[in-house]
Amino acid sequence: MATKNTNLANKSNLSDKSGLAGLSLADLVEFCRVVDQPRYRAEQLYYWLYTKQVADFDAMTNIPKSFRAWLAENAAINSLTQHRLTVSDDGSTTKLLFQTHDGNFIESVLMHEGGRVTVCLSTQVGCKLDCQFCATAQMGFHRNLSVGEIIDQFLLLQRRERRRITNVVFMGMGEPFLNYQRVVDAAHLLNGQDGINLGARKITISTVGIIPAIRRFTAERQRFKLAISLNASDQPTRQRIMPIAREFPLPELLAAVSDYYQATRNRPTFEYVLLAGINDDADSARRLVDKIDGLPCKVNLIPYNEINGPYRRPTDDTIEAFTELLYNAPFTVTVRWSKGTGIKAGCGQLATENQPRD
Ligand code: SAH
Repeated sequence: MATKNTNLANKSNLSDKSGLAGLSLADLVEFCRVVDQPRYRAEQLYYWLYTKQVADFDAMTNIPKSFRAWLAENAAINSLTQHRLTVSDDGSTTKLLFQTHDGNFIESVLMHEGGRVTVCLSTQVGCKLDCQFCATAQMGFHRNLSVGEIIDQFLLLQRRERRRITNVVFMGMGEPFLNYQRVVDAAHLLNGQDGINLGARKITISTVGIIPAIRRFTAERQRFKLAISLNASDQPTRQRIMPIAREFPLPELLAAVSDYYQATRNRPTFEYVLLAGINDDADSARRLVDKIDGLPCKVNLIPYNEINGPYRRPTDDTIEAFTELLYNAPFTVTVRWSKGTGIKAGCGQLATENQPRD
């Protein structure tokens, strides 16, 4: 919802289109300064926004009524609005379609698995990377999401969920490392101990392999988990299915990931989408073992979720054979059978039209 007073936008670093959610404590301090409120008010706002995650200003009971009324008139808490909700048949997966203030649509997914409640957040409207097997690529790139729009996905999903969200993956629409600062800022808000307080190791950022951003992430010693969508174990295949691989070739990418491990001692995860006849043969599996040998890591195999396009999911036998070839490798291997494919909420199935019809 837009804030109603454009003076507010001029006076603070709040844009007139965004809500307060997404502001850091330092931003809230600045906000309180320009609206002539005492500094401690920023801590109160932070508490209500992120610890209590309230939906309206009236719930902020230790804030004076007059200022609450002023906020209700001049500001908003969230900038996204919920547009549509879809639940999978077994009830384990919920997909939410959100509308942004400028009429864009983004999707987020909430999944229950064992004791875990995981949300998958989008970081951009669309994507410019054109990975051949991904539905988001087919909608092209529209724009980066703001910190508020990223955090709002979490807050609005948590608001309708009884249990506490335990894990966040930045694996929705878009490439997180092409919106680096906002994604990292949002991850820090999720991690804030006086606020949402989700452990850094419960937050995963997934990238196609933007090497300068991986190096920056390493240099900044970010503690969030890093996942790399490898998807092929040789350069020709990788660049055929992921055009961005031309700019960031496999040997350099693996060197950057290895440096990340050496510097942080955090194990990266490699994601590998299994595509029939493309990257699911025994040679690909052996080469994969060979290429990442010596790098402590995890490999996450994702059987392809079919979308419009030429690719197919390998048979269960092929998936099993591929997995078996990795069994003796020195890294952990898991197969991720995507949740929510029935409602197109699986990996790589998120895409929105600009004007969805109900
Ligand atoms: N752009 C980032 C974040 C998106 S994560 C990245 O690529 O890492 C989405 C994950 O789903 C990626 O690992 C991607 O390789 C995988 N994926 C994309 N399309 C898919 C599909 N149709 N089926 C299964 N996985 C897919």
